Amino acid sequence: MIYLDNAATTSVHPKVLKAMLPYFDKKYSNPSGIYEFATAGKNAINEVREVIAKSINAKPSEIYFTSGGTESDNWALIGMARAMSDKGKHIITSKIEHHAVINTCLYLEKMGYDVTYLDVDEEGFISLRQLEREIRKDTILISIMFANNEVGTIEPIKKIGELARRNNICFHTDAVQAYLHTDIDVEKMNIDMLSASAHKFRGAKGTGFLYIRDNFVPDIFMHGGKQEKGRRAGTENVPGIIGMGEAVKVGIADMQKSNVYVRNMRDYLLYRIEHEIPDVYLNGARHMRLPGNLNVSFSNIEGESLLIMLDMDGICTSSGSACTAGVSNGSHVLKAMGLDKERLKGALRITLDAENTMEEMDYVIWRIKKNVATLRDKE
Ligand code: PLP
Repeated sequence: MIYLDNAATTSVHPKVLKAMLPYFDKKYSNPSGIYEFATAGKNAINEVREVIAKSINAKPSEIYFTSGGTESDNWALIGMARAMSDKGKHIITSKIEHHAVINTCLYLEKMGYDVTYLDVDEEGFISLRQLEREIRKDTILISIMFANNEVGTIEPIKKIGELARRNNICFHTDAVQAYLHTDIDVEKMNIDMLSASAHKFRGAKGTGFLYIRDNFVPDIFMHGGKQEKGRRAGTENVPGIIGMGEAVKVGIADMQKSNVYVRNMRDYLLYRIEHEIPDVYLNGARHMRLPGNLNVSFSNIEGESLLIMLDMDGICTSSGSACTAGVSNGSHVLKAMGLDKERLKGALRITLDAENTMEEMDYVIWRIKKNVATLRDKE
């Protein structure tokens, strides 16, 4: 099998698995206990808080463990909307957010909030001018993703942060796809809240974190015990958190090298696809793009049919995000970018990681060429 769907999830790194295992049997304590066996667990997860905080230039007290990207996004948006409702009820986001943000905004609209969904251009960038124009006296939150999960476009986060700070508005970014694939500094970028998910960077599923700047206090999301300063109750997923800490350590150490390797492989794949297959279009930005993301449309074919043929060749790809796969009404991201029906229909997403090899790319190109030709002959 050749796995090219790393934006959907990644394999757990062997070092991560090794770090997690003792926390299932030998070190299984509940960190809320007051005996030494439990405080050792508490200390271990607090060390992870430090590792994560350092990776984004935050303070350990600003890192909250969650069950992943979806929960972090829900908490950031609903928690802040509730906490700030006296000041206003207007939220600004974009049309290309992950459903964890879009559907939370739709829920907030039902709860009486007013949400502005910013347009994007054909490469998937929001317009800073439109953002500035949409800011109102009652705007309480700006939530713009760091990098898009379908097309990999990296948004102008530093400039968005500056704008938010100048207008005294809380700025949340969904960095689920960007974290450990690009440098993030919450101070330099004026980020007030940031969501991340461990299974996207070789940690385990069901673990993530939300960074919340110390002077922001979103409403409590999970009511119960005193965990996470009483703001997110529930016994901590200790093995998952320990694994996430190890994944961050490995990710930080490997990031530069791995980005160069993955970007070269992606560019090789793109070069050959663009030069050897006619009527192919790159979706998303050519330069401000996640290193491992490739999203291309082939005219006159269904992306889903190509995906199925590649699957029969042992190659895992996606026709959109994992959450929209199988839904045939087209990607909301590609639609927002203004792509025509032909490009919407023929899209294929390939997301690479440092485990992939150049030999795999040669096989993948051969199979894509062959399958596209077969599908076009049938038309
Ligand atoms: N946000 C983005 C940009 C994502 O790509 C994903 C998952 O694909 C999520 C949020 C949801 O993360 P999780 O799977 O950890 O709930």
